[in-house]
This record gives sequence, C-alpha cells and structure tokens, in this order.
Amino acid sequence: MSNSKNGISFFENVNRNFDKAAQFTSHPKGLLEQIKGCNSVYSFQFPVRTSRGLEVLRGWRVEHSYHKLPVKGGIRYSENVDEDEVKALAALMTYKCAVVDVPFGGAKGAIKFNPKNYGANDVELITRRYTSELIRKNYIGPGVDVPAPDYGSGPREMAWIADTYATFNPGRIDALACVTGKPVAEGGVRGRTEATGRGIFYGLQEACDNSEDMKALGLTKGLAGKRIVVQGLGNVGYHAAKFCQEGGGVIVALAEYEGAIYNPKGLDLDAVVKHRKETGSILKFPGATDVPNSLEALELDCDILIPAALEEQITQSNAPRIKAKIIGEGANGPTTVDAEEILLKKRVMVIPDMYLNAGGVTVSYFEWLKNLSHVRFGRMDKRFEHSAFDKMLRAVEESTGRSFKEHERVAITKGPDEIDLVNSGLEETMTGAYNQIRDIKKSNPKIPDLRTAAFLNAIEKIATAYMELGIFP
Ligand code: GLU
Repeated sequence: MSNSKNGISFFENVNRNFDKAAQFTSHPKGLLEQIKGCNSVYSFQFPVRTSRGLEVLRGWRVEHSYHKLPVKGGIRYSENVDEDEVKALAALMTYKCAVVDVPFGGAKGAIKFNPKNYGANDVELITRRYTSELIRKNYIGPGVDVPAPDYGSGPREMAWIADTYATFNPGRIDALACVTGKPVAEGGVRGRTEATGRGIFYGLQEACDNSEDMKALGLTKGLAGKRIVVQGLGNVGYHAAKFCQEGGGVIVALAEYEGAIYNPKGLDLDAVVKHRKETGSILKFPGATDVPNSLEALELDCDILIPAALEEQITQSNAPRIKAKIIGEGANGPTTVDAEEILLKKRVMVIPDMYLNAGGVTVSYFEWLKNLSHVRFGRMDKRFEHSAFDKMLRAVEESTGRSFKEHERVAITKGPDEIDLVNSGLEETMTGAYNQIRDIKKSNPKIPDLRTAAFLNAIEKIATAYMELGIFP
C-alpha cells in the first residue's frame, strides 16, 4: 500500500503526469506501456543482529527501465518507505536521466528503517547485508545497476557498499563504479555532495534569466533579490539555499521538522545552521519569527518556493494558499497532480523535480566515468592548458607592450581542477536541459506546463532508444 495523501498513490501520480504528456506523442500504446511500467521489482527481507537484537528488515531495489544500462538511482533509508514509493522514485529516475541526457535507465532502492535509531556500527551492518542481497541477485554492478545516496543515506554508506561489492568481486578493476556518491578519498568525485543543490541553483538561475518568462509572472529578470522559501535543510535543501543565497537570492524562510523561521529581510543560512547545531532546533533564531507548523511555511509570501524535503508536500489542501510565483522542486514528487492543476490556474511556474534535481545524478555520471577511466578529471590537461594560456598572454604582452598583473595572470592561465570541470559540466547540463524543456513547451500552446514538456522530452528520448534497440521498430 502506498503512503498517498490524496487517495492516489505516488506512483499513480507519476503515471498520471506521464499520461498527460503521452497524449502529445504518436507512439503505439505498447511502447508507452513498456516505458511506463517497472521492468523489475525486487522485494526482500533479511535478518541482522544489531545492538538492539535480532531484527528482520525489508529491502527493495526497483529497476524501472532497461532501455539504457546500467540503471541508476539512490537508496532511501526510511521507516516510512513502501514499495509504491520506491517504484515511483525509480520511474522518476528514468525520466530524470533522459531529460539531462545521462545515459542510464532509472532505479531506486530502499531499506525500511530509521537510521537515526541506530549506531554507526548497526547502520554499517545493515548496509553491507543489504548490499550482499543485491549482489546475490545481480542487482548491483558497474554495468548493471549503480546505486547512490538518497534520503537517509550518504557518502559513508556508499563507501560501505563499494567495499562490500569489491570484496565479493575480487580483481574486478571497475568495482568502484558499482556505486556513486562515495567520499572523494574512496573513489568519489569532487562536487558530488553539493551537486543536487548546485543544479537547483543553475536551473532557477536559467529560468529567472529569461525576461519574457519573468515578465509573465510579474517578476523582474534575474535570481538576485528574489525572496526564497526553502523546505528541508538536508543535503539538497541546504545546498540549494546556499548557492541561491550566494547568487543574490534572499532566503526569507527555512522549514524543518521542528517548525519554520521567517524573516522578510533575509536569513543568514550558515548562522541558522550553527544555531540549530547549538540549540537542536532552527526555532528561536535571533531576528526571525517562528512558524510552529512547518507546513505553513510553504504558504508564506515569497517569489520562489523550493520544497526540498519529501514527496507530496503541496497538495489539494494547501495549493490554493501558496503565494510563490515559482516552485522549484528540489525533492522528488513534492507536488501532487491535483495540486498542480490548482497552481496552474493560479499561473504559478512549476519547475519539475525530474529536471531541477537532476544535478545529483548528473555528477554521479561524472563519478562513474572517473571510476571507469581511473583518472581524475583535469589530471591530463590542467598543466597543458595553463602553459597554453601563459604563452598566449606573453604573446599579447609582446605585441601590445602591456604587462599583466600577477593576479590577472593567475586568474587567466589557471588550468581546470576536477571541481572546475565537474561544475562546468553540471552548469552546461542544467542550462541546456532547461532550454530543451522550455522550447518544447513553447512549440505547442496546448502543452500546459514545464512538467508535461519535461515528460514529453523524456518519452521521446526513451522511445528513440527502444527503437534503436530494435524492440519497437
Ligand atoms: N538520489 C538521487 C536522486 O534522486 C541521486 C541518484 C543518483 O545519483 O544516482 O536523483
């Protein structure tokens, strides 16, 4: 059974959005059915002896689409997770990868438990045991299925997964590519941790830089000065808020489990994080007003609302009261289909999850490439580029008689480090994908919103892949 709030399960919500977009294609029903359904669902239980005694836990790995391999998607650690949710999230991964041209099919995994109730040793044991269940059934591997972090899991868990996989596969030279989101010291790539949040910033910046679209919303061009509310201060929410603040956005409210805080003049994000560490809560932050009911923060006056917590936060019941002009979906599935209809009538621009939070999987793709190539990005070209730019500057100096100051020389001739290349690849991906979706929406006035355009884009790309495979000629 599903956790659904509106009687429609999360996976049904995703499929309704799919159907809305599928109307604009002429693909045969069979092909659309093949794209939509989950190709394989593995549900299992496993026993573990934790410090709390012998327990039996439920795990899942859903592989949604084999149109490209490996399949890819995070592992959720949550006591509220259920099969429908994992299926919905796996499907979203397929569409997400297609939208940003990451050559993977979609997948998602989950373990039904609350890691906060366990010590690190227990979480390690559970993670390793879960991984061996995946290995047993060939649900993990660099060319098969590549997990990553999701809600409740992070780099530490990914390192345990990589180590377990490598132990069971001695001598496999590509073993580290079996999972992404690893710590940099253990085969990770620089910039992966902040990638989803950074991608959200690039996406919002691209949307706000379009003066025509902003004018239609009654807003001025540019992210700078926009009033932003962020729900969720986890990895995604924190980094989205951080990069938007650095880009000139004003964070007017932050919402967490314990409640929300609001200051129309703006909140200093890092000061709030420090306050939360010291007091255990974001509430009572100096200069801010407390909003005890966290969900009410979504209804505060702002330009941009970034739900970056969990699914089904904006529903039929609160959508009529939402004041934001732009909703930037940081979480997966934060808006229900019914809520979106209400928002559309209010002319709110919803920038959909499957595009906006795709920065994580994009940089996961870079990490996977790094693991397969066994070379750090920038290692081969950093010095070469430095000396090429240096030669160019010297030639300019000779021909013009001008000599560059040392700081100018350093800034211009610096060859790229791994982080520079990762961020550049991410920015290119996010801005390019936004314009693809926007162009699709503009191409047909009947396409009601960016989500439908994004789904349409994904469906076309996946359909082409199936045709190339010769499955649906
Ligand atoms: N869990 C993340 C997501 O929902 C990342 C997936 C990945 O990097 O494979 O997009």
